[in-house]
Amino acid sequence: MGHIALQENLAGWSLGGQVSVDLSAISDNVKALRSLTRAPHFMAVVKGNAYGHGLVEVARTALASGADWLGTAQLTEAIALRRAGIAAPVLSWLYLATQTSAAIREALEHDVDLSLGSVHQLEATVGIARGLGRPAVVHLELDSGLSRGGARAEDWPELVARARQAELEGTLKVRGVWTHLAWADIPAHPGNATAVAGFEAAVQAAKDAGLEPELRHVSSSANILQRREFDFDMVRAGLAIYGLSPADHVDPAEHGLRPALTVTAPIVMVKKVPAGTGVSYEHRAITHEPRLLGLVPLGYADGIPKEISGRNVVLIGGRRVPVIGKVCMDQFMVDLGPSGDGAAVGDIAVLFGDPAAGAASADEWGAAIGSHGDEIINRIAPRLPRAYECPDYQEPGHVA
Ligand SMILES: *Cc1c(COP(=O)(O)O)cnc(C)c1O
Repeated sequence: MGHIALQENLAGWSLGGQVSVDLSAISDNVKALRSLTRAPHFMAVVKGNAYGHGLVEVARTALASGADWLGTAQLTEAIALRRAGIAAPVLSWLYLATQTSAAIREALEHDVDLSLGSVHQLEATVGIARGLGRPAVVHLELDSGLSRGGARAEDWPELVARARQAELEGTLKVRGVWTHLAWADIPAHPGNATAVAGFEAAVQAAKDAGLEPELRHVSSSANILQRREFDFDMVRAGLAIYGLSPADHVDPAEHGLRPALTVTAPIVMVKKVPAGTGVSYEHRAITHEPRLLGLVPLGYADGIPKEISGRNVVLIGGRRVPVIGKVCMDQFMVDLGPSGDGAAVGDIAVLFGDPAAGAASADEWGAAIGSHGDEIINRIAPRLPRAYECPDYQEPGHVA
Protein backbone atom coordinates (compact mmCIF):
# COMPACT_ATOMS: atom_id res chain seq x y z
CA MET A 1 0.00 0.00 0.00
CA GLY A 2 1.38 3.37 -1.01
CA HIS A 3 1.93 5.90 1.74
CA ILE A 4 2.23 9.52 0.78
CA ALA A 5 2.93 12.26 3.32
CA LEU A 6 1.67 15.38 1.60
CA GLN A 7 2.50 17.84 4.31
CA GLU A 8 6.09 18.97 4.65
CA ASN A 9 5.84 20.49 8.07
CA LEU A 10 8.86 19.15 9.88
CA ALA A 11 7.02 15.88 10.35
CA GLY A 12 10.35 14.14 10.83
CA TRP A 13 10.91 16.07 14.04
CA SER A 14 7.35 16.14 15.28
CA LEU A 15 6.14 14.24 18.30
CA GLY A 16 4.54 11.74 16.00
CA GLY A 17 0.91 12.63 16.56
CA GLN A 18 -0.68 12.01 13.21
CA VAL A 19 -3.92 11.96 11.27
CA SER A 20 -3.99 9.09 8.80
CA VAL A 21 -6.58 9.23 6.08
CA ASP A 22 -7.34 6.00 4.31
CA LEU A 23 -8.53 7.17 0.92
CA SER A 24 -9.51 3.64 -0.04
CA ALA A 25 -12.18 3.84 2.70
CA ILE A 26 -13.50 7.06 1.11
CA SER A 27 -13.46 5.34 -2.26
CA ASP A 28 -15.28 2.24 -0.99
CA ASN A 29 -17.81 4.35 0.90
CA VAL A 30 -18.62 6.43 -2.18
CA LYS A 31 -19.04 3.27 -4.26
CA ALA A 32 -21.32 1.70 -1.62
CA LEU A 33 -23.48 4.82 -1.36
CA ARG A 34 -23.58 5.31 -5.08
CA SER A 35 -24.90 1.80 -5.54
CA LEU A 36 -27.68 2.25 -3.01
CA THR A 37 -29.05 5.58 -4.20
CA ARG A 38 -31.40 5.80 -7.15
CA ALA A 39 -30.36 9.36 -7.93
CA PRO A 40 -28.45 9.65 -11.21
CA HIS A 41 -26.08 12.24 -9.72
CA PHE A 42 -23.99 12.07 -6.57
CA MET A 43 -22.46 15.04 -4.79
CA ALA A 44 -19.57 14.48 -2.39
CA VAL A 45 -19.76 17.23 0.22
CA VAL A 46 -16.23 18.40 0.98
CA LYS A 47 -16.89 21.47 3.12
CA GLY A 48 -14.76 22.09 6.21
CA ASN A 49 -11.60 20.76 4.53
CA ALA A 50 -13.58 17.61 3.68
CA TYR A 51 -14.68 17.20 7.31
CA GLY A 52 -11.01 17.48 8.30
CA HIS A 53 -9.88 14.76 5.88
CA GLY A 54 -8.23 17.03 3.29
CA LEU A 55 -10.18 18.92 0.62
CA VAL A 56 -8.34 18.08 -2.58
CA GLU A 57 -7.37 14.51 -1.70
CA VAL A 58 -10.95 13.58 -0.80
CA ALA A 59 -12.38 15.39 -3.82
CA ARG A 60 -10.11 13.53 -6.23
CA THR A 61 -10.82 10.20 -4.58
CA ALA A 62 -14.60 10.71 -4.53
CA LEU A 63 -14.64 11.72 -8.20
CA ALA A 64 -12.56 8.70 -9.15
CA SER A 65 -15.02 6.47 -7.26
CA GLY A 66 -18.32 7.54 -8.77
CA ALA A 67 -19.18 10.99 -7.41
CA ASP A 68 -19.87 13.45 -10.23
CA TRP A 69 -20.45 16.61 -8.17
CA LEU A 70 -18.64 18.32 -5.31
CA GLY A 71 -20.26 20.54 -2.70
CA THR A 72 -18.66 23.17 -0.50
CA ALA A 73 -20.08 25.72 1.87
CA GLN A 74 -17.55 28.48 1.23
CA LEU A 75 -16.52 29.87 -2.14
CA THR A 76 -12.86 29.75 -1.11
CA GLU A 77 -13.10 25.96 -0.89
CA ALA A 78 -14.70 25.74 -4.33
CA ILE A 79 -12.01 27.98 -5.79
CA ALA A 80 -9.30 25.90 -4.08
CA LEU A 81 -10.66 22.84 -5.88
CA ARG A 82 -10.41 24.63 -9.21
CA ARG A 83 -6.91 25.89 -8.49
CA ALA A 84 -5.94 22.28 -7.78
CA GLY A 85 -7.05 21.45 -11.31
CA ILE A 86 -10.35 19.76 -10.49
CA ALA A 87 -12.83 20.39 -13.31
CA ALA A 88 -15.91 18.50 -12.05
CA PRO A 89 -19.10 20.45 -11.27
CA VAL A 90 -18.97 22.21 -7.90
CA LEU A 91 -21.83 23.84 -5.99
CA SER A 92 -21.13 26.37 -3.25
CA TRP A 93 -23.85 27.68 -0.94
CA LEU A 94 -22.48 30.16 1.59
CA TYR A 95 -21.16 33.57 0.64
CA LEU A 96 -21.58 37.27 1.18
CA ALA A 97 -23.37 38.67 -1.86
CA THR A 98 -22.16 42.09 -2.97
CA GLN A 99 -21.91 43.58 -6.44
CA THR A 100 -18.15 43.92 -5.98
CA SER A 101 -17.39 40.50 -4.53
CA ALA A 102 -14.06 39.26 -5.85
CA ALA A 103 -14.90 35.80 -4.52
CA ILE A 104 -18.13 35.55 -6.53
CA ARG A 105 -16.33 36.85 -9.58
CA GLU A 106 -13.58 34.28 -9.31
CA ALA A 107 -16.11 31.53 -8.58
CA LEU A 108 -18.05 32.39 -11.74
CA GLU A 109 -14.86 32.61 -13.79
CA HIS A 110 -14.03 29.12 -12.53
CA ASP A 111 -17.45 27.68 -13.41
CA VAL A 112 -18.50 27.20 -9.81
CA ASP A 113 -22.29 26.85 -9.47
CA LEU A 114 -23.73 29.15 -6.82
CA SER A 115 -26.75 28.65 -4.65
CA LEU A 116 -29.24 31.53 -4.75
CA GLY A 117 -31.64 31.88 -1.86
CA SER A 118 -32.74 35.49 -2.15
CA VAL A 119 -33.34 38.22 -4.68
CA HIS A 120 -30.47 40.09 -3.01
CA GLN A 121 -28.07 37.24 -3.79
CA LEU A 122 -29.49 37.01 -7.29
CA GLU A 123 -28.98 40.72 -8.05
CA ALA A 124 -25.38 40.67 -6.84
CA THR A 125 -24.55 37.52 -8.76
CA VAL A 126 -26.32 38.65 -11.93
CA GLY A 127 -24.53 42.01 -11.74
CA ILE A 128 -21.15 40.28 -11.65
CA ALA A 129 -22.16 37.83 -14.39
CA ARG A 130 -23.19 40.74 -16.59
CA GLY A 131 -19.75 42.29 -16.13
CA LEU A 132 -18.11 39.01 -17.07
CA GLY A 133 -20.30 38.64 -20.13
CA ARG A 134 -21.39 35.11 -19.23
CA PRO A 135 -24.33 33.66 -17.33
CA ALA A 136 -23.99 32.57 -13.71
CA VAL A 137 -25.06 28.97 -13.30
CA VAL A 138 -27.12 28.62 -10.14
CA HIS A 139 -29.23 26.34 -7.97
CA LEU A 140 -32.21 28.06 -6.34
CA GLU A 141 -32.51 27.15 -2.69
CA LEU A 142 -35.85 26.75 -0.95
CA ASP A 143 -36.01 27.24 2.79
CA SER A 144 -38.23 24.25 3.57
CA GLY A 145 -38.14 24.80 7.32
CA LEU A 146 -34.50 24.95 8.42
CA SER A 147 -34.68 28.79 8.47
CA ARG A 148 -31.04 28.94 7.38
CA GLY A 149 -30.19 29.73 3.75
CA GLY A 150 -32.82 29.70 1.02
CA ALA A 151 -36.02 31.54 0.18
CA ARG A 152 -39.15 30.92 2.17
CA ALA A 153 -42.21 29.71 0.29
CA GLU A 154 -43.80 33.17 0.35
CA ASP A 155 -40.67 34.72 -1.21
CA TRP A 156 -40.21 31.93 -3.77
CA PRO A 157 -42.49 33.33 -6.55
CA GLU A 158 -40.51 36.57 -6.67
CA LEU A 159 -37.19 34.68 -6.74
CA VAL A 160 -38.20 32.38 -9.60
CA ALA A 161 -39.77 35.24 -11.58
CA ARG A 162 -36.62 37.33 -11.25
CA ALA A 163 -34.47 34.29 -12.11
CA ARG A 164 -36.47 33.73 -15.29
CA GLN A 165 -36.03 37.39 -16.28
CA ALA A 166 -32.28 37.07 -15.80
CA GLU A 167 -32.24 33.90 -17.88
CA LEU A 168 -33.97 35.73 -20.72
CA GLU A 169 -31.43 38.54 -20.42
CA GLY A 170 -28.60 35.96 -20.64
CA THR A 171 -27.03 36.58 -17.22
CA LEU A 172 -28.30 33.48 -15.40
CA LYS A 173 -28.89 29.79 -15.94
CA VAL A 174 -30.90 27.89 -13.33
CA ARG A 175 -29.42 24.39 -13.28
CA GLY A 176 -30.90 23.19 -10.01
CA VAL A 177 -33.50 23.62 -7.31
CA TRP A 178 -32.68 22.32 -3.87
CA THR A 179 -33.37 22.37 -0.16
CA HIS A 180 -31.76 21.11 3.04
CA LEU A 181 -34.08 19.46 5.55
CA ALA A 182 -34.54 20.69 9.11
CA TRP A 183 -34.85 17.04 10.19
CA ALA A 184 -32.02 15.84 7.93
CA ASP A 185 -30.60 13.72 10.75
CA ILE A 186 -33.95 12.15 11.71
CA PRO A 187 -35.17 10.48 8.51
CA ALA A 188 -38.45 9.21 9.99
CA HIS A 189 -39.50 12.62 11.30
CA PRO A 190 -42.84 13.70 9.77
CA GLY A 191 -41.37 17.17 9.20
CA ASN A 192 -39.38 15.71 6.32
CA ALA A 193 -42.42 14.63 4.31
CA THR A 194 -43.99 18.06 4.81
CA ALA A 195 -40.79 19.78 3.72
CA VAL A 196 -40.46 17.57 0.65
CA ALA A 197 -44.07 18.30 -0.34
CA GLY A 198 -43.24 22.01 -0.11
CA PHE A 199 -40.13 21.38 -2.19
CA GLU A 200 -42.11 19.66 -4.92
CA ALA A 201 -44.52 22.60 -5.04
CA ALA A 202 -41.54 24.96 -5.33
CA VAL A 203 -40.10 22.94 -8.22
CA GLN A 204 -43.46 23.14 -9.96
CA ALA A 205 -43.61 26.90 -9.37
CA ALA A 206 -40.14 27.23 -10.90
CA LYS A 207 -41.27 25.31 -13.98
CA ASP A 208 -44.46 27.38 -14.21
CA ALA A 209 -42.27 30.48 -14.24
CA GLY A 210 -40.47 29.07 -17.28
CA LEU A 211 -37.36 27.68 -15.60
CA GLU A 212 -36.05 24.22 -16.50
CA PRO A 213 -33.99 22.98 -13.56
CA GLU A 214 -32.24 19.71 -14.41
CA LEU A 215 -31.24 18.88 -10.87
CA ARG A 216 -33.55 18.62 -7.88
CA HIS A 217 -31.68 17.71 -4.70
CA VAL A 218 -32.69 17.28 -1.09
CA SER A 219 -31.07 14.37 0.75
CA SER A 220 -27.93 14.31 2.84
CA SER A 221 -26.41 11.17 4.38
CA ALA A 222 -29.14 10.01 6.77
CA ASN A 223 -31.88 10.22 4.17
CA ILE A 224 -29.66 8.61 1.54
CA LEU A 225 -29.50 5.58 3.83
CA GLN A 226 -33.12 5.58 4.99
CA ARG A 227 -35.43 7.60 2.71
CA ARG A 228 -34.74 6.62 -0.89
CA GLU A 229 -37.95 8.35 -1.97
CA PHE A 230 -36.16 11.68 -1.37
CA ASP A 231 -33.35 10.89 -3.83
CA PHE A 232 -34.64 13.07 -6.71
CA ASP A 233 -31.90 13.80 -9.30
CA MET A 234 -28.96 14.11 -6.94
CA VAL A 235 -27.99 13.38 -3.33
CA ARG A 236 -25.47 15.29 -1.24
CA ALA A 237 -23.37 12.97 0.89
CA GLY A 238 -21.09 14.15 3.67
CA LEU A 239 -20.78 12.09 6.86
CA ALA A 240 -21.49 8.78 5.15
CA ILE A 241 -18.60 9.11 2.69
CA TYR A 242 -16.32 9.59 5.70
CA GLY A 243 -17.74 6.45 7.29
CA LEU A 244 -19.37 8.29 10.18
CA SER A 245 -22.87 7.81 11.50
CA PRO A 246 -25.29 10.37 10.05
CA ALA A 247 -28.05 9.67 12.57
CA ASP A 248 -28.59 8.19 16.00
CA HIS A 249 -28.83 4.39 15.97
CA VAL A 250 -27.34 4.14 12.48
CA ASP A 251 -24.24 1.95 12.44
CA PRO A 252 -22.16 2.85 9.38
CA ALA A 253 -20.76 -0.70 9.23
CA GLU A 254 -24.25 -2.09 8.61
CA HIS A 255 -24.31 -0.11 5.39
CA GLY A 256 -20.82 -1.23 4.37
CA LEU A 257 -19.23 2.06 5.41
CA ARG A 258 -16.06 2.46 7.43
CA PRO A 259 -14.24 5.47 8.90
CA ALA A 260 -11.40 6.84 6.83
CA LEU A 261 -9.65 8.83 9.50
CA THR A 262 -7.45 7.56 12.32
CA VAL A 263 -5.63 9.67 14.91
CA THR A 264 -2.56 8.15 16.53
CA ALA A 265 0.37 9.22 18.66
CA PRO A 266 3.28 7.40 20.28
CA ILE A 267 3.47 7.16 24.04
CA VAL A 268 6.35 9.47 24.91
CA MET A 269 6.78 8.53 28.58
CA VAL A 270 5.78 5.67 30.88
CA LYS A 271 6.04 6.04 34.62
CA LYS A 272 5.12 4.12 37.71
CA VAL A 273 3.21 6.01 40.41
CA PRO A 274 2.13 4.85 43.89
CA ALA A 275 -1.43 4.70 45.21
CA GLY A 276 -2.81 8.10 46.14
CA THR A 277 -1.07 10.00 43.33
CA GLY A 278 -2.95 12.96 41.88
CA VAL A 279 -2.80 13.09 38.08
CA SER A 280 -2.81 16.26 35.95
CA TYR A 281 -4.12 19.71 36.89
CA GLU A 282 -6.08 20.01 40.09
CA HIS A 283 -5.66 16.30 40.78
CA ARG A 284 -9.10 15.55 39.37
CA ALA A 285 -7.97 11.90 39.25
CA ILE A 286 -6.21 10.12 42.12
CA THR A 287 -4.81 6.60 41.81
CA HIS A 288 -6.27 4.04 44.20
CA GLU A 289 -3.38 1.63 43.79
CA PRO A 290 0.06 1.70 42.15
CA ARG A 291 -0.38 2.47 38.46
CA LEU A 292 1.58 2.78 35.26
CA LEU A 293 0.78 6.00 33.45
CA GLY A 294 1.47 6.74 29.79
CA LEU A 295 1.97 10.24 28.39
CA VAL A 296 0.28 10.93 25.04
CA PRO A 297 1.55 14.07 23.27
CA LEU A 298 -1.84 15.37 22.08
CA GLY A 299 -4.09 17.85 23.86
CA TYR A 300 -6.87 20.31 23.33
CA ALA A 301 -4.63 22.40 21.07
CA ASP A 302 -4.79 19.39 18.75
CA GLY A 303 -8.55 19.10 19.11
CA ILE A 304 -8.75 16.54 21.91
CA PRO A 305 -11.90 17.43 23.85
CA LYS A 306 -11.43 17.96 27.59
CA GLU A 307 -14.64 16.01 28.23
CA ILE A 308 -12.92 12.79 27.14
CA SER A 309 -11.18 12.56 30.53
CA GLY A 310 -12.07 9.31 32.30
CA ARG A 311 -13.30 7.58 29.13
CA ASN A 312 -12.00 4.22 28.06
CA VAL A 313 -11.24 5.21 24.49
CA VAL A 314 -7.50 4.84 23.79
CA LEU A 315 -6.27 1.67 22.08
CA ILE A 316 -2.73 0.63 23.03
CA GLY A 317 -1.26 -2.78 22.26
CA GLY A 318 -4.69 -4.16 21.37
CA ARG A 319 -6.47 -3.08 24.56
CA ARG A 320 -8.52 -0.07 25.54
CA VAL A 321 -7.22 2.14 28.32
CA PRO A 322 -8.83 5.23 29.88
CA VAL A 323 -7.74 8.84 29.72
CA ILE A 324 -6.83 9.81 33.31
CA GLY A 325 -6.98 13.34 34.74
CA LYS A 326 -7.51 16.59 32.92
CA VAL A 327 -6.56 16.84 29.27
CA CYS A 328 -3.89 19.57 28.94
CA MET A 329 -3.19 21.82 25.99
CA ASP A 330 -0.60 19.55 24.35
CA GLN A 331 -0.73 16.32 26.28
CA PHE A 332 -2.74 13.93 28.40
CA MET A 333 -2.17 10.80 30.47
CA VAL A 334 -3.60 7.34 30.04
CA ASP A 335 -3.98 4.77 32.79
CA LEU A 336 -2.07 1.69 31.64
CA GLY A 337 -3.19 -0.37 34.66
CA PRO A 338 -1.29 -1.80 37.63
CA SER A 339 1.36 -3.53 35.54
CA GLY A 340 1.14 -1.72 32.22
CA ASP A 341 0.83 -5.05 30.38
CA GLY A 342 4.15 -4.46 28.67
CA ALA A 343 3.31 -0.96 27.37
CA ALA A 344 6.48 1.00 26.60
CA VAL A 345 7.69 4.32 25.25
CA GLY A 346 7.13 4.41 21.52
CA ASP A 347 4.01 2.23 21.54
CA ILE A 348 1.32 3.67 19.34
CA ALA A 349 -1.86 4.93 20.96
CA VAL A 350 -4.86 4.92 18.63
CA LEU A 351 -7.28 7.59 19.76
CA PHE A 352 -10.03 7.01 17.24
CA GLY A 353 -10.35 5.21 13.94
CA ASP A 354 -12.01 2.11 12.59
CA PRO A 355 -13.94 0.12 15.22
CA ALA A 356 -13.40 -3.01 13.13
CA ALA A 357 -9.73 -2.71 14.16
CA GLY A 358 -10.62 -2.33 17.85
CA ALA A 359 -10.28 1.43 18.00
CA ALA A 360 -12.94 3.73 19.36
CA SER A 361 -14.78 5.45 16.52
CA ALA A 362 -15.07 9.21 16.27
CA ASP A 363 -18.79 8.55 16.83
CA GLU A 364 -17.96 6.88 20.18
CA TRP A 365 -15.86 9.90 21.15
CA GLY A 366 -18.69 12.18 20.06
CA ALA A 367 -21.22 10.27 22.15
CA ALA A 368 -18.85 10.46 25.15
CA ILE A 369 -18.88 14.26 25.00
CA GLY A 370 -22.61 14.55 24.32
CA SER A 371 -22.14 15.29 20.63
CA HIS A 372 -21.44 13.40 17.41
CA GLY A 373 -18.44 12.14 15.49
CA ASP A 374 -18.48 15.04 13.07
CA GLU A 375 -17.67 17.46 15.89
CA ILE A 376 -14.70 15.30 16.91
CA ILE A 377 -13.17 15.09 13.45
CA ASN A 378 -13.83 18.74 12.71
CA ARG A 379 -11.96 19.75 15.86
CA ILE A 380 -8.70 18.10 14.81
CA ALA A 381 -6.14 20.86 14.54
CA PRO A 382 -4.42 21.68 11.25
CA ARG A 383 -1.05 21.43 13.05
CA LEU A 384 -1.33 17.64 13.11
CA PRO A 385 0.36 16.18 10.04
CA ARG A 386 -1.91 14.33 7.63
CA ALA A 387 -0.77 11.18 5.88
CA TYR A 388 -2.75 9.70 3.04
CA GLU A 389 -2.93 6.03 2.28
CA CYS A 390 -4.39 4.64 -0.87
CA PRO A 391 -3.31 1.97 -3.32
CA ASP A 392 -4.11 4.08 -6.35
CA TYR A 393 -4.05 7.66 -5.17
CA GLN A 394 -3.50 10.06 -8.04
CA GLU A 395 -0.70 12.55 -7.75
CA PRO A 396 -1.66 16.14 -7.04
CA GLY A 397 -2.02 17.99 -10.33
CA HIS A 398 -3.78 15.09 -11.98
CA VAL A 399 -7.23 16.14 -13.14
CA ALA A 400 -9.68 13.41 -12.27
C1 LIG B 1 -23.23 19.44 5.26
C2 LIG B 1 -24.29 19.40 4.25
C3 LIG B 1 -24.62 18.21 3.61
C4 LIG B 1 -24.03 16.87 4.00
O1 LIG B 1 -24.63 16.48 5.21
P1 LIG B 1 -24.20 15.05 5.88
O2 LIG B 1 -25.19 14.84 6.95
O3 LIG B 1 -22.83 15.24 6.38
O4 LIG B 1 -24.29 14.05 4.79
C5 LIG B 1 -25.55 18.26 2.59
N1 LIG B 1 -26.12 19.43 2.23
C6 LIG B 1 -25.84 20.60 2.84
C7 LIG B 1 -26.51 21.84 2.41
C8 LIG B 1 -24.93 20.62 3.88
O5 LIG B 1 -24.65 21.79 4.48
